[in-house]
Amino acid sequence: MTFSKINFQKEETFLKRHFQEYYKKNFVGSVPEVERREFGYGVFGRKIADRNISFSSEKIVNDFLFAQVPLFFSYSTAYYRYPNRKPMEAKELLGADIVYEFDADDIQTSCKEKHDSWKCPKGHFGKGAIENCPECGEGVEVSQWFCSECLGEAKRHVFRLIDFLKDDFGFTEGIEVNFSGKAGYHIHLQGKEIRNLGRGARIELVDYLTASGMFFEKLGYGISSAPITCPREDGAWRKRLNKGIENLFEKDPERVAAFTGFSIKKMKKFFDLKQEVLSGMRRGILFPAEGRKSKEFWKKILEMVAGEEMLPIDRQTSIDLHKIIRVPETLHGETGFCAKRIPVGELKKFDPFTDPVVFADENLFGSGLVKVFISKAPRFSLCGQSFGPFENEESEVPLFCAIYLIGKGAVLR
Ligand SMILES: [Zn+2]
Ligand SMILES: [Zn+2]
Repeated sequence: MTFSKINFQKEETFLKRHFQEYYKKNFVGSVPEVERREFGYGVFGRKIADRNISFSSEKIVNDFLFAQVPLFFSYSTAYYRYPNRKPMEAKELLGADIVYEFDADDIQTSCKEKHDSWKCPKGHFGKGAIENCPECGEGVEVSQWFCSECLGEAKRHVFRLIDFLKDDFGFTEGIEVNFSGKAGYHIHLQGKEIRNLGRGARIELVDYLTASGMFFEKLGYGISSAPITCPREDGAWRKRLNKGIENLFEKDPERVAAFTGFSIKKMKKFFDLKQEVLSGMRRGILFPAEGRKSKEFWKKILEMVAGEEMLPIDRQTSIDLHKIIRVPETLHGETGFCAKRIPVGELKKFDPFTDPVVFADENLFGSGLVKVFISKAPRFSLCGQSFGPFENEESEVPLFCAIYLIGKGAVLR
């Protein structure tokens, strides 16, 4: 959807009017040490229109939200002595939290073929999310949508990250999870032990989580030795890799063959050796399944397992000390959803298409229908109700759905 070609003044005013109602009724108190943070806000179609703003108290933050009604509101993961000064060095960094993000648009899932579509400037179009037109090579415009499948995948990674944080790093406190307000989750690490970590330490953490530059030999996998050995003692990545090898036998041999480059016939033979492989591992030996080529074979298998066990965390954004990120409990201007804080114990049952939909509360926001014109939308569901598909048509929908569609480029009628 291109926002630039149309004037969305009416829609922006509509969103702001309702967002203001929300801020009137809800106090946002989700930022620890407010006075040390830099804030930024966004307007229709632009997530960060201004930054280098600071507030001396939570009360003043809330006054700002009610008076200005930003459609996006972000704060720095860093703590500064002078958060509103420019340039960055003048702020005097005092420390920073770490925030890891899992967004459905960065995760490859098959549902994208169903709900995403693209078109290129020359008029070619198709399903799915791609970068360049396969016909003419031009960059394409993608209409992106989300469903419970891709959001479920993002949530699965959150649980896996929490396991890493607790089991491998021993972090027990200061872990906060919130919905991004659109299509993902943010995991904030706010413990005191995190705050003073320098860039180097932050890089080490990401390398560990993403299995970057992992040396299997150093972990105890004797790929070059004869016989090929594997570690038996427990411990973090060793446990994950060993478990991953065991789980391999539950997968489709054709998929494993495709990844490792070995023939399907060979892979099926390997799968038949399941019991031998597992009992060998208990003795610290990797079964020589491929004779003289076993070294290469096991290296490929370990690479595949590491690739599945690692976390798809964006390196750049997670080590950036100066990034600003959605303020939990504020509204997201592309959906109208609340960037809700989620206690870890409630994450499992959190439904990203119901729980953050604040405008579905008819007692607070009324039950009237809103008429909108939608150029294109797949079938989607919100609050247990199903909408669409729409194509160049007018429809009367509940307020929460109208707000969601406007965020995606629909116009008021
Ligand atoms: Zn094209
Ligand atoms: Zn999906």
